[in-house]
Amino acid sequence: MSDNKAGVEQRIKKLEAYNSAYRDGKPLISDHEYDRLVGELRSIDPFNPFLNRVEPEDFKTKREVRHPLPMLSIEKAYSQKELERFVIRVKKEAAEIGIREILFSITPKLDGLAGRDDGNVFASRGNGEIGYEISSAFQKGVYPIGGRGLGIGEIVILKSYFDEHLSDNFEHPRNLVVGIINSDTLNMFAEKAIEDRAVHFVPYVKLNSREVAAEDLLSQIEEVTEKLFSEVDYPVDGMVVSVTDERVRDHMGATAHHYRWQIAVKKKGKTAVTSVINIIWQVGRTGNVTPVLEVFPVSLSGAKIKRVTAHNAGKVKAEKIGPGAEIEIIRSGEVIPKLEKVIQPSVQTEFPEKCPSCNSILSWDNDFLKCTMSSCPAQVEQGIFHFFKILGTAEWFGIKTIQKLVSKGYDSLKKIYFMKEEDFIEVGFGPVQSKNLVNALRISKEKAVEDWRFLAAFGISDLGTGDSRKLLAHYRLERFGELTREDIIKIHGFGEKTSESIENGIQKVWEWMQHMMNLGFNLERTPLEDEKEASDSSIAGKGIVFTGKMNKGSREDMKAHAVNLGARVQSAVNTKTDYLVCGEKAGAGKINKAKEVNARVITEEEYFKLLKPD
Ligand SMILES: [Zn+2]
Repeated sequence: MSDNKAGVEQRIKKLEAYNSAYRDGKPLISDHEYDRLVGELRSIDPFNPFLNRVEPEDFKTKREVRHPLPMLSIEKAYSQKELERFVIRVKKEAAEIGIREILFSITPKLDGLAGRDDGNVFASRGNGEIGYEISSAFQKGVYPIGGRGLGIGEIVILKSYFDEHLSDNFEHPRNLVVGIINSDTLNMFAEKAIEDRAVHFVPYVKLNSREVAAEDLLSQIEEVTEKLFSEVDYPVDGMVVSVTDERVRDHMGATAHHYRWQIAVKKKGKTAVTSVINIIWQVGRTGNVTPVLEVFPVSLSGAKIKRVTAHNAGKVKAEKIGPGAEIEIIRSGEVIPKLEKVIQPSVQTEFPEKCPSCNSILSWDNDFLKCTMSSCPAQVEQGIFHFFKILGTAEWFGIKTIQKLVSKGYDSLKKIYFMKEEDFIEVGFGPVQSKNLVNALRISKEKAVEDWRFLAAFGISDLGTGDSRKLLAHYRLERFGELTREDIIKIHGFGEKTSESIENGIQKVWEWMQHMMNLGFNLERTPLEDEKEASDSSIAGKGIVFTGKMNKGSREDMKAHAVNLGARVQSAVNTKTDYLVCGEKAGAGKINKAKEVNARVITEEEYFKLLKPD
């Protein structure tokens, strides 16, 4: 490319104009396009002073925004004791102004990137006083829940989406979120997540919360926390407990750091410190070779821990993990504990050059070491193991059994499903076990299993259990051979790239899938969307808010049911609300609001009568 001096000046003028428009929050071109133009300039005139002014984006290069009110931190309670002290303090100060009945609201604390959206400016938290203008997040496709202008919230990735699509490649959803906000060019994963509408800005007002009386807070916090966790499909790192009464809030006020009427209860697994003996490299179903740390045995929530997952090879490299490294490990719900942080790195870190299973040369792919040999025994074993695990109806097929089968040439499910007792005996299993294995195969076909489990068991990339379910609510499994990306993209939650990847994935296994279907699995059909009993129900099209504790089932189930019947389920009462359905301990605020907007306030019983008038 050749450009004369005038041409270069022309380019810089343009870039400067784009730049200033961007800083005003009114970008004329995409970040991506801007980067491309800067790249072009660099190739024409590598030493142009303009290039030194353009630094790789981080928050510091974004426009500073002063928050109208400081975004304060939240004080943290690390123990029940501290929470108790907080309650005592609140009661005492409330009593000072003559208030004895105190309610606390409990809200999930999302683990994302905090921001404040006034509808015009979207700012990161920054230091609390001054944040950075990050409105480009919305241009990039971050989806604002409930619309713009709803105040303080967090940018997060749907938890189910992260688990299904990203957890193999990213350690924590927050890393990806920061990447999305920070950089002009999105990586492939970020682009997909955004296309699939999985990256949200969630204003705190849009989250479910529970109200609890001060007397009950300590005894109920755990139960309420569990409940709220199960309702939120976002990463959560604790609960925020706030006084609801404005008068008490005003009276208690704030320090320079936090509001005195609010406290965060951290949700954290138990941790322990130990050191690494050795790293064992394991080959996964897709060829990723991941590190498992063999550690000096240590007790953690009642179990002796000897092995810890260390995420990926990039982590081992970046944090210098190896024999002798001192580490903190954490266990929070999962069976296998995880590496939380490296306290003292190792002097030696080594990586395998060859696949521990098939001996082929490994290659690096971002943070991963990969075995790219598709006939790699470990990958084949893990693929078969995955099928049985997801299907969930076949016992006896543990990884050791599968390894034995693969080593004797039974290296596909096709072959395994044709095996007879004598074949298992020939492989070296005892007569009883051989019988059990044959029975297990038979039972796995006879026992009813949801079609989405069956589909997800094939391990197609981007098609885990959640998305299999969504897909099968629109298309029958038998039709999948002709399913195109255009068909998939029509379904909410599937972007272009994911749809393409799923189409390709299905094509690759379609013959095998048909073969498996012909073996006669007893598949339970996912109800198709358009077969749902929507339009003729009495609540179709009605705005409904559920509040309080329901007797007949969880509130979430009731909401889902109402949606199926065509209702518009809302989280807050507004002028579009037709019914407020009150369970036990329904909030007075919602009831008053409902009366204000002329919505009908009904009990749970009345609601069910409404569904079945007779
Ligand atoms: Zn291999």
